[in-house]
Amino acid sequence: MNLINKLENFQILDLIVKANKITLKEHGNHISLERAIFLSWWCDKGDCAFCYMSSQKPKIKQPEKARRNIKSILAEAELSRRIGWNIEFLSGGYGSYSMAEIKKIAEDIHDITNKPVWLNIGITEDLNEFGDEIIGITGAVEIANPDLHDKICPSKSLDDIINMLDTAGDLGFQKAITIILGLGETPDDLKYLFDLIRDVGIDRITFYSLNPHKDTYYGDKPSPASLYYAGVVSATRISFPNLKIICGTWIDNLANIGPLILSGANGITKFPLFKMFGTRYGRRVEEEIHWAGRECSATFTDFDLLTTGNYYKELEPFIKRYIDKCHNTK
Ligand code: SF4
Repeated sequence: MNLINKLENFQILDLIVKANKITLKEHGNHISLERAIFLSWWCDKGDCAFCYMSSQKPKIKQPEKARRNIKSILAEAELSRRIGWNIEFLSGGYGSYSMAEIKKIAEDIHDITNKPVWLNIGITEDLNEFGDEIIGITGAVEIANPDLHDKICPSKSLDDIINMLDTAGDLGFQKAITIILGLGETPDDLKYLFDLIRDVGIDRITFYSLNPHKDTYYGDKPSPASLYYAGVVSATRISFPNLKIICGTWIDNLANIGPLILSGANGITKFPLFKMFGTRYGRRVEEEIHWAGRECSATFTDFDLLTTGNYYKELEPFIKRYIDKCHNTK
């Protein structure tokens, strides 16, 4: 029985057991915490059916006004470095910043974290402007079934995303995609995803589960079932033992974390970091990782690490503002 059939026939425990063995063998037992850093709140598409932006489109008129303060972005990078979080990618920004500005932000973050940065800035042909400050390019595929993709994300063509990733590969960058589960796909659609990973040579995938936003088509739809999510991740891990897998889960679904780790996740993302740091929710994430038998490569609770680090005079007010948002349990 192939993996898709196993998922369709609810043999999810079998998938998880196999995926867990592969993950431990190929990746060891460390789990990363990942933080996507947003550059701006602008989107020049604004019509993906699941997205908050699609319910806001009439209000978004001036991309330059949606830019974040760059010092605030860099402060987030410094805090992420202090507590051991990876910067999953820089997200958004296309249309709000020039490529030169995005490059400069990536260079500054590289200097702060000593790690090159992933980008997820939309479909762009200007990748040859980037250099060693960038490790990889992310294509926001969201859904791999081409017919569903055209309906759900009408303004970001799958072909354009694939072309961008091919170009990224030619330039020596790694390639990543994002996928959202719960958009109406079926287990059989995994064949499209697996073909894409194989054909394009994807190095990293981030899975998210649908977070239904009011006033969108998905506003009254449920998030995907935890075991379906785990089954998809397990089947992906078994099919691609070396792939880096990051799984997103929301603060109201923290119980997904343990099963997702056993299914093959290398990292966990999508948390409101400063809202959760030091709270019982942050501790719960660490507990989930512990009870999956893994070590967490970062902290969600250690205020000593959060408050001690490199001193950047111009960033200090922004760093303080973020720290003040955290709930200090000491
Ligand atoms: S998913 Fe991305 S491209 Fe689509 S509307 Fe939302 S922000 Fe824009």
